[in-house]
Amino acid sequence: MEQLFVFILNMPGWLRITLLLLLILMNYGAAFLVKRSILIVYRRTGSAVEAMNKWRIYKQYFLTTLQFITVILSGFLGGVYFIPFEKTGRIIFMLLVLFFFFIIINVGQLLILDKTYKRIRGTTESLSSQIRDIAFAFLFALVPLGVVRTISLFIRGINIRSGVLRDIIAAAIPIITAFLYIFIFQALYRGLLKAVDLQDERLRELLNGLFDRAGIKKAKLYQWPTRQKKVANALVLGLANPKVFISDYYLENAEPDEIEAIVAHEVGHLKQKHILKRLLYIVAGMYGVLIIGNLMEWYENYTGNEINLYLGLAILLIPFVLYFSVGFLQFCRYQERKADEFALTIGIKPEVMITALLKVARLNHMALKQKKLDEKFQLHPSMARRIGRIEKISGYKYNLRS
Ligand SMILES: [Zn+2]
Repeated sequence: MEQLFVFILNMPGWLRITLLLLLILMNYGAAFLVKRSILIVYRRTGSAVEAMNKWRIYKQYFLTTLQFITVILSGFLGGVYFIPFEKTGRIIFMLLVLFFFFIIINVGQLLILDKTYKRIRGTTESLSSQIRDIAFAFLFALVPLGVVRTISLFIRGINIRSGVLRDIIAAAIPIITAFLYIFIFQALYRGLLKAVDLQDERLRELLNGLFDRAGIKKAKLYQWPTRQKKVANALVLGLANPKVFISDYYLENAEPDEIEAIVAHEVGHLKQKHILKRLLYIVAGMYGVLIIGNLMEWYENYTGNEINLYLGLAILLIPFVLYFSVGFLQFCRYQERKADEFALTIGIKPEVMITALLKVARLNHMALKQKKLDEKFQLHPSMARRIGRIEKISGYKYNLRS
């Protein structure tokens, strides 16, 4: 391992640049492969749903993984150029390089795949608007890093003498970070979506009734433009001041009672404080890592045995990765189920809930079923599973084939 680092550090410049270029080209090559296999599926089945399901799977498991590996490797390869800077400069420079890589790879892949995607789904979103979304995705992934960095710089700046106080502050960082991130995210999100107040007055009245029935504070209702990218969705944000967003593509294509059913699901998230619980899940995980780290240190000090570096990393990383990936997703799917159930308890008819969900699936060209393993890596249960669940608790039978 150390030899590898020495090799990377002393690598000639041309080799370093060549490797970096190769990494980028590999991502482009992968996009071409994906494009080819999606077109094959589309030609064979003639089904946009099948093609889009393939697309989602390739994107989530293949392109994203490759990109993740590329960004880490490019960090290693490019790291040598940051050495001359002092610490803050190094971080800023590194972020700029990561941003550059992220944009180069994603915009390149977008150019390769955009035509195929538009042809299959019939979308008309402009390239510049998609590039803007890519840039914001990167910034949002980085906000937590920036927050942690700022807080720790601030703490170092105030020069604390007391060791206990320092420990308390160190322990408070995860929780402060998580809440700050959510607040920053939520403050910016409305502008990013270009959302406006929900226009339809009668619909607003209908939806406001849901909050009364749930016995919670009314959320502000917004709509955001998605006609060009054909996204049919609703989402909810906010800890203290809840906001519900409904995409106009869904508003235009769904009946009022279907929109009501979808928003009732979001009201379920609010009533059961799901956002707060997700946040606490993440904070608890961060404390878990801190505690395991401290326990290992304590073990080393107490027994005098040194834990092998790789073993130590494995003990820390494996539960951490599982907790934040599969575990978190499982927790989210549990909440989705609960939100569906809640919608029924405030008077949404099961048949309306089901047609509302089917419409979401149809408008988004979303497959109803997923393979079991695939489903474990999704934020939502498959539509088929959600519908099955609604049928089970309501006793209503919907004929999926009709
Ligand atoms: Zn939901």
